[in-house]
Amino acid sequence: MDISALKAKLGELEAEATRAISEAKSADAIRSAETRLTKEPIAEALAALKTLPGEQRGEAGKTINATKERLKELFAAGLAGLREKAVAADQAQAGAFDPTLPGPVTARGALHPVTIVQWEVERVLSGLGFTVVGGPEMETDFHNFEALNIPATHPARDMMDTFWLDNGWLLRTHTSPCQVRAMRQFGAPLRVCAPGRCFRYETIDASHENTFFQVEGLMIDRNISISHLIAVMRMLLREVFQRDVKVRLRPGFFPFVEPGFELDMSCEICGGKGCATCKQSGWVEILPCGMVHPNVLRFGNIDPREFTGFAFGLGLTRLAMMKFGVGDIRVLNSGDLRGIAPAGRLAGETIVERVGARA
Ligand SMILES: [Zn+2]
Repeated sequence: MDISALKAKLGELEAEATRAISEAKSADAIRSAETRLTKEPIAEALAALKTLPGEQRGEAGKTINATKERLKELFAAGLAGLREKAVAADQAQAGAFDPTLPGPVTARGALHPVTIVQWEVERVLSGLGFTVVGGPEMETDFHNFEALNIPATHPARDMMDTFWLDNGWLLRTHTSPCQVRAMRQFGAPLRVCAPGRCFRYETIDASHENTFFQVEGLMIDRNISISHLIAVMRMLLREVFQRDVKVRLRPGFFPFVEPGFELDMSCEICGGKGCATCKQSGWVEILPCGMVHPNVLRFGNIDPREFTGFAFGLGLTRLAMMKFGVGDIRVLNSGDLRGIAPAGRLAGETIVERVGARA
Protein backbone atom coordinates (compact mmCIF):
# COMPACT_ATOMS: atom_id res chain seq x y z
CA MET A 1 0.00 0.00 0.00
CA ASP A 2 1.29 3.49 -0.79
CA ILE A 3 0.48 6.72 0.97
CA SER A 4 -2.12 7.91 -1.56
CA ALA A 5 -4.11 4.67 -1.17
CA LEU A 6 -3.93 5.09 2.62
CA LYS A 7 -5.15 8.70 2.41
CA ALA A 8 -8.01 7.65 0.10
CA LYS A 9 -9.02 4.96 2.56
CA LEU A 10 -9.01 7.41 5.49
CA GLY A 11 -11.06 9.86 3.40
CA GLU A 12 -13.66 7.13 2.76
CA LEU A 13 -13.78 6.39 6.48
CA GLU A 14 -14.67 10.03 7.21
CA ALA A 15 -17.33 10.10 4.48
CA GLU A 16 -18.92 6.93 5.83
CA ALA A 17 -18.91 8.31 9.37
CA THR A 18 -20.70 11.47 8.19
CA ARG A 19 -23.31 9.38 6.39
CA ALA A 20 -23.86 7.05 9.36
CA ILE A 21 -24.37 10.01 11.70
CA SER A 22 -26.87 11.71 9.41
CA GLU A 23 -28.87 8.48 9.12
CA ALA A 24 -28.73 7.57 12.83
CA LYS A 25 -32.09 7.79 14.66
CA SER A 26 -30.73 7.12 18.15
CA ALA A 27 -27.68 7.68 20.31
CA ASP A 28 -27.11 3.92 20.35
CA ALA A 29 -26.91 3.88 16.54
CA ILE A 30 -24.27 6.64 16.61
CA ARG A 31 -22.27 4.87 19.30
CA SER A 32 -22.24 1.57 17.43
CA ALA A 33 -21.21 3.35 14.19
CA GLU A 34 -18.37 4.99 16.13
CA THR A 35 -17.12 1.61 17.36
CA ARG A 36 -17.40 0.12 13.88
CA LEU A 37 -15.65 3.00 12.05
CA THR A 38 -12.87 3.92 14.48
CA LYS A 39 -11.35 0.98 16.35
CA GLU A 40 -10.53 -1.58 13.68
CA PRO A 41 -10.02 0.68 10.63
CA ILE A 42 -7.59 2.93 12.55
CA ALA A 43 -5.71 -0.11 13.89
CA GLU A 44 -5.49 -1.43 10.33
CA ALA A 45 -4.17 1.90 9.05
CA LEU A 46 -1.53 1.99 11.79
CA ALA A 47 -0.54 -1.57 10.90
CA ALA A 48 -0.20 -0.49 7.24
CA LEU A 49 2.36 2.17 8.29
CA LYS A 50 5.07 -0.48 8.43
CA THR A 51 4.59 -1.35 4.77
CA LEU A 52 5.27 2.24 3.66
CA PRO A 53 8.66 3.51 2.58
CA GLY A 54 10.50 5.14 5.52
CA GLU A 55 10.24 8.77 4.31
CA GLN A 56 6.43 8.52 3.95
CA ARG A 57 5.78 7.09 7.41
CA GLY A 58 5.85 10.43 9.26
CA GLU A 59 3.27 12.09 7.00
CA ALA A 60 1.08 9.01 6.99
CA GLY A 61 1.15 8.83 10.77
CA LYS A 62 0.06 12.48 11.07
CA THR A 63 -2.80 11.87 8.62
CA ILE A 64 -4.01 8.86 10.59
CA ASN A 65 -3.98 10.82 13.87
CA ALA A 66 -5.77 13.74 12.28
CA THR A 67 -8.47 11.39 10.91
CA LYS A 68 -8.84 9.77 14.31
CA GLU A 69 -9.37 13.19 15.93
CA ARG A 70 -11.83 14.29 13.25
CA LEU A 71 -13.88 11.08 13.63
CA LYS A 72 -14.03 11.64 17.39
CA GLU A 73 -15.32 15.19 16.83
CA LEU A 74 -17.83 14.07 14.20
CA PHE A 75 -19.39 11.45 16.45
CA ALA A 76 -19.45 13.79 19.47
CA ALA A 77 -21.18 16.45 17.34
CA GLY A 78 -23.60 13.80 16.05
CA LEU A 79 -24.63 12.83 19.62
CA ALA A 80 -25.03 16.48 20.64
CA GLY A 81 -27.17 17.16 17.56
CA LEU A 82 -29.46 14.27 18.41
CA ARG A 83 -29.94 15.51 21.99
CA GLU A 84 -30.82 19.00 20.74
CA LYS A 85 -33.38 17.57 18.36
CA ALA A 86 -35.06 15.62 21.20
CA VAL A 87 -35.20 18.70 23.43
CA ALA A 88 -36.69 20.77 20.57
CA ALA A 89 -39.36 18.11 19.96
CA ASP A 90 -40.24 18.10 23.68
CA GLN A 91 -40.56 21.86 23.70
CA ALA A 92 -42.74 21.84 20.59
CA GLN A 93 -45.04 19.35 22.27
CA ALA A 94 -45.14 21.36 25.46
CA GLY A 95 -46.10 24.41 23.42
CA ALA A 96 -48.98 22.49 21.80
CA PHE A 97 -50.48 21.49 25.19
CA ASP A 98 -53.30 23.80 26.19
CA PRO A 99 -54.16 23.39 29.89
CA THR A 100 -57.35 25.45 29.46
CA LEU A 101 -58.98 22.92 27.10
CA PRO A 102 -61.73 20.75 28.70
CA GLY A 103 -60.81 17.13 29.43
CA PRO A 104 -62.31 14.12 27.67
CA VAL A 105 -66.01 13.74 28.42
CA THR A 106 -66.93 10.66 30.43
CA ALA A 107 -70.34 9.30 29.50
CA ARG A 108 -72.68 9.58 32.47
CA GLY A 109 -74.87 6.58 33.16
CA ALA A 110 -78.63 6.79 33.18
CA LEU A 111 -81.49 4.78 34.55
CA HIS A 112 -82.96 2.02 32.43
CA PRO A 113 -86.15 3.16 30.65
CA VAL A 114 -88.20 0.59 32.56
CA THR A 115 -86.81 1.83 35.89
CA ILE A 116 -87.64 5.43 34.99
CA VAL A 117 -91.23 4.48 34.22
CA GLN A 118 -91.49 2.26 37.30
CA TRP A 119 -90.36 5.03 39.64
CA GLU A 120 -92.73 7.45 37.93
CA VAL A 121 -95.66 5.07 38.47
CA GLU A 122 -94.60 4.51 42.09
CA ARG A 123 -94.47 8.26 42.63
CA VAL A 124 -97.97 8.86 41.23
CA LEU A 125 -99.55 5.92 43.06
CA SER A 126 -97.81 6.77 46.33
CA GLY A 127 -99.35 10.23 46.00
CA LEU A 128 -102.76 8.53 45.83
CA GLY A 129 -102.10 6.63 49.04
CA PHE A 130 -100.85 3.36 47.55
CA THR A 131 -98.12 1.48 49.41
CA VAL A 132 -95.33 0.02 47.28
CA VAL A 133 -94.82 -3.68 48.08
CA GLY A 134 -92.75 -6.46 46.56
CA GLY A 135 -93.12 -10.17 46.08
CA PRO A 136 -91.06 -13.21 45.12
CA GLU A 137 -90.33 -13.97 41.47
CA MET A 138 -90.57 -17.68 42.24
CA GLU A 139 -94.15 -18.35 43.20
CA THR A 140 -96.37 -21.19 44.25
CA ASP A 141 -99.20 -22.42 42.10
CA PHE A 142 -101.54 -21.21 44.84
CA HIS A 143 -100.47 -17.56 44.71
CA ASN A 144 -99.98 -17.33 40.93
CA PHE A 145 -103.14 -19.20 39.88
CA GLU A 146 -105.32 -20.82 42.51
CA ALA A 147 -105.96 -17.80 44.74
CA LEU A 148 -106.57 -15.67 41.64
CA ASN A 149 -109.55 -17.81 40.74
CA ILE A 150 -107.60 -19.88 38.21
CA PRO A 151 -107.96 -23.50 39.38
CA ALA A 152 -105.84 -26.22 37.81
CA THR A 153 -108.52 -27.14 35.30
CA HIS A 154 -109.22 -23.57 34.21
CA PRO A 155 -108.66 -22.86 30.51
CA ALA A 156 -107.13 -19.45 31.39
CA ARG A 157 -103.93 -21.29 32.33
CA ASP A 158 -103.47 -22.00 28.64
CA MET A 159 -103.14 -18.25 27.99
CA MET A 160 -100.16 -18.05 30.31
CA ASP A 161 -97.37 -20.34 29.19
CA THR A 162 -95.33 -20.80 32.28
CA PHE A 163 -91.79 -21.68 33.30
CA TRP A 164 -92.25 -24.52 35.79
CA LEU A 165 -89.51 -25.31 38.27
CA ASP A 166 -88.39 -28.77 39.36
CA ASN A 167 -89.77 -28.22 42.87
CA GLY A 168 -93.30 -27.64 41.53
CA TRP A 169 -93.08 -23.87 41.89
CA LEU A 170 -93.05 -21.52 38.90
CA LEU A 171 -91.72 -18.17 37.71
CA ARG A 172 -94.63 -15.81 38.28
CA THR A 173 -96.50 -15.00 35.07
CA HIS A 174 -97.80 -11.70 36.44
CA THR A 175 -97.44 -9.49 39.50
CA SER A 176 -100.95 -10.47 40.63
CA PRO A 177 -99.68 -12.93 43.28
CA CYS A 178 -98.69 -9.78 45.21
CA GLN A 179 -102.40 -8.96 45.51
CA VAL A 180 -103.02 -12.22 47.32
CA ARG A 181 -100.03 -11.78 49.59
CA ALA A 182 -100.98 -8.15 50.40
CA MET A 183 -104.62 -8.98 51.15
CA ARG A 184 -103.61 -11.81 53.45
CA GLN A 185 -100.99 -9.69 55.18
CA PHE A 186 -102.77 -6.34 55.55
CA GLY A 187 -106.52 -7.00 55.15
CA ALA A 188 -108.99 -4.33 54.00
CA PRO A 189 -109.18 -1.42 53.31
CA LEU A 190 -106.05 -1.66 51.19
CA ARG A 191 -104.14 0.30 48.57
CA VAL A 192 -100.97 -1.34 47.26
CA CYS A 193 -98.92 -1.39 44.11
CA ALA A 194 -96.35 -4.06 43.37
CA PRO A 195 -93.84 -3.49 40.59
CA GLY A 196 -91.67 -6.38 39.44
CA ARG A 197 -90.38 -8.80 36.90
CA CYS A 198 -92.58 -11.45 35.33
CA PHE A 199 -91.95 -14.39 33.03
CA ARG A 200 -93.82 -16.17 30.26
CA TYR A 201 -92.72 -19.11 28.20
CA GLU A 202 -93.14 -17.21 24.96
CA THR A 203 -91.57 -16.88 21.54
CA ILE A 204 -89.68 -13.60 21.44
CA ASP A 205 -90.46 -11.04 18.75
CA ALA A 206 -90.70 -7.23 18.45
CA SER A 207 -93.57 -7.06 20.94
CA HIS A 208 -93.16 -10.20 23.08
CA GLU A 209 -90.50 -11.07 25.63
CA ASN A 210 -90.17 -13.99 28.02
CA THR A 211 -89.05 -11.55 30.72
CA PHE A 212 -90.90 -8.28 31.27
CA PHE A 213 -91.97 -5.84 33.97
CA GLN A 214 -95.39 -5.08 35.35
CA VAL A 215 -96.82 -3.11 38.19
CA GLU A 216 -99.81 -4.48 39.99
CA GLY A 217 -102.31 -2.08 41.50
CA LEU A 218 -104.97 -2.99 44.01
CA MET A 219 -107.46 -0.79 45.80
CA ILE A 220 -109.99 -2.29 48.20
CA ASP A 221 -112.45 -0.36 50.28
CA ARG A 222 -116.15 0.12 50.83
CA ASN A 223 -118.05 1.30 47.71
CA ILE A 224 -115.20 1.14 45.24
CA SER A 225 -116.49 1.16 41.66
CA ILE A 226 -115.28 1.13 38.05
CA SER A 227 -115.25 4.92 37.98
CA HIS A 228 -112.50 4.90 40.64
CA LEU A 229 -110.55 2.53 38.42
CA ILE A 230 -110.90 4.73 35.33
CA ALA A 231 -110.00 7.89 37.25
CA VAL A 232 -106.82 6.33 38.68
CA MET A 233 -105.77 4.94 35.28
CA ARG A 234 -106.31 8.28 33.53
CA MET A 235 -104.34 10.16 36.15
CA LEU A 236 -101.54 7.63 36.09
CA LEU A 237 -101.08 7.69 32.31
CA ARG A 238 -101.36 11.47 32.18
CA GLU A 239 -98.58 11.80 34.76
CA VAL A 240 -96.33 9.26 33.06
CA PHE A 241 -96.71 10.80 29.60
CA GLN A 242 -97.05 14.37 30.86
CA ARG A 243 -100.14 14.92 28.68
CA ASP A 244 -103.58 13.47 28.03
CA VAL A 245 -103.32 10.08 26.36
CA LYS A 246 -106.15 8.49 24.40
CA VAL A 247 -107.37 5.31 26.11
CA ARG A 248 -110.15 2.85 25.44
CA LEU A 249 -111.71 0.13 27.57
CA ARG A 250 -112.71 -3.14 26.00
CA PRO A 251 -114.47 -5.93 27.82
CA GLY A 252 -111.86 -8.55 28.61
CA PHE A 253 -111.92 -11.83 30.41
CA PHE A 254 -109.59 -12.40 33.32
CA PRO A 255 -110.61 -14.96 35.93
CA PHE A 256 -109.55 -12.74 38.84
CA VAL A 257 -111.82 -9.80 37.97
CA GLU A 258 -115.53 -9.42 37.34
CA PRO A 259 -116.25 -7.43 35.23
CA GLY A 260 -112.88 -7.35 33.47
CA PHE A 261 -111.48 -4.88 30.98
CA GLU A 262 -108.63 -4.50 28.61
CA LEU A 263 -107.30 -0.96 28.69
CA ASP A 264 -105.63 0.13 25.46
CA MET A 265 -103.84 3.37 24.74
CA SER A 266 -103.19 4.88 21.34
CA CYS A 267 -99.79 3.78 20.01
CA GLU A 268 -97.24 6.48 20.81
CA ILE A 269 -94.69 5.00 18.42
CA CYS A 270 -96.65 5.37 15.19
CA GLY A 271 -99.17 7.94 16.44
CA GLY A 272 -102.03 5.50 15.80
CA LYS A 273 -101.20 4.82 12.15
CA GLY A 274 -100.12 1.22 12.72
CA CYS A 275 -96.70 -0.36 13.24
CA ALA A 276 -95.06 -3.62 14.32
CA THR A 277 -95.40 -2.78 18.02
CA CYS A 278 -99.16 -2.19 17.84
CA LYS A 279 -99.64 -5.02 15.32
CA GLN A 280 -100.86 -2.43 12.78
CA SER A 281 -103.92 -1.63 14.91
CA GLY A 282 -102.89 1.80 16.24
CA TRP A 283 -103.72 0.63 19.80
CA VAL A 284 -101.49 -1.03 22.36
CA GLU A 285 -102.72 -3.17 25.23
CA ILE A 286 -101.41 -1.47 28.32
CA LEU A 287 -103.26 -3.22 31.06
CA PRO A 288 -105.87 -5.73 32.02
CA CYS A 289 -108.04 -4.44 34.83
CA GLY A 290 -111.38 -4.84 36.50
CA MET A 291 -113.24 -5.25 39.73
CA VAL A 292 -111.67 -7.85 42.00
CA HIS A 293 -113.58 -11.13 41.78
CA PRO A 294 -115.37 -12.07 45.03
CA ASN A 295 -113.56 -15.40 45.03
CA VAL A 296 -110.22 -13.61 45.00
CA LEU A 297 -111.31 -11.42 47.93
CA ARG A 298 -112.28 -14.55 49.82
CA PHE A 299 -108.91 -16.15 49.09
CA GLY A 300 -107.40 -12.96 50.51
CA ASN A 301 -109.50 -13.36 53.68
CA ILE A 302 -111.60 -10.28 52.85
CA ASP A 303 -115.40 -10.32 53.01
CA PRO A 304 -116.81 -9.50 49.52
CA ARG A 305 -120.15 -8.49 51.09
CA GLU A 306 -118.45 -5.61 52.85
CA PHE A 307 -115.62 -4.65 50.51
CA THR A 308 -115.17 -4.19 46.79
CA GLY A 309 -112.04 -3.24 44.90
CA PHE A 310 -110.34 -2.84 41.58
CA ALA A 311 -107.08 -4.27 40.33
CA PHE A 312 -104.88 -3.65 37.34
CA GLY A 313 -101.65 -5.05 35.95
CA LEU A 314 -99.81 -2.30 34.13
CA GLY A 315 -97.16 -3.39 31.62
CA LEU A 316 -94.11 -1.32 32.60
CA THR A 317 -92.07 -2.66 29.70
CA ARG A 318 -94.76 -1.72 27.20
CA LEU A 319 -95.17 1.66 28.87
CA ALA A 320 -91.43 2.38 28.68
CA MET A 321 -91.47 1.52 24.97
CA MET A 322 -94.29 4.01 24.44
CA LYS A 323 -92.72 6.75 26.55
CA PHE A 324 -89.27 6.52 24.98
CA GLY A 325 -90.27 5.40 21.50
CA VAL A 326 -88.50 2.04 21.69
CA GLY A 327 -89.91 0.12 18.73
CA ASP A 328 -88.57 -3.33 19.61
CA ILE A 329 -89.08 -4.92 23.02
CA ARG A 330 -85.91 -7.02 22.64
CA VAL A 331 -83.77 -3.89 22.95
CA LEU A 332 -84.77 -3.42 26.60
CA ASN A 333 -83.24 -6.68 27.81
CA SER A 334 -80.34 -6.64 25.37
CA GLY A 335 -77.93 -4.49 27.37
CA ASP A 336 -77.16 -2.59 24.17
CA LEU A 337 -76.69 0.99 25.34
CA ARG A 338 -77.30 2.40 21.86
CA GLY A 339 -80.92 1.33 22.23
CA ILE A 340 -81.63 1.89 25.89
CA ALA A 341 -79.54 4.97 26.69
CA PRO A 342 -79.78 7.45 23.81
CA ALA A 343 -77.69 10.59 24.28
CA GLY A 344 -80.75 12.71 24.97
CA ARG A 345 -81.59 10.72 28.07
CA LEU A 346 -78.10 10.59 29.52
CA ALA A 347 -78.76 13.87 31.30
CA GLY A 348 -81.77 12.34 33.08
CA GLU A 349 -82.29 11.49 36.71
CA THR A 350 -79.47 9.45 38.18
CA ILE A 351 -79.57 6.86 40.90
CA VAL A 352 -77.64 9.18 43.19
CA GLU A 353 -80.21 11.96 42.76
CA ARG A 354 -83.06 9.55 43.32
CA VAL A 355 -81.57 8.03 46.43
CA GLY A 356 -80.76 11.52 47.68
CA ALA A 357 -84.36 12.62 47.14
CA ARG A 358 -85.65 9.59 49.02
CA ALA A 359 -83.39 10.08 52.00
ZN1 LIG B 1 -97.98 1.67 16.43
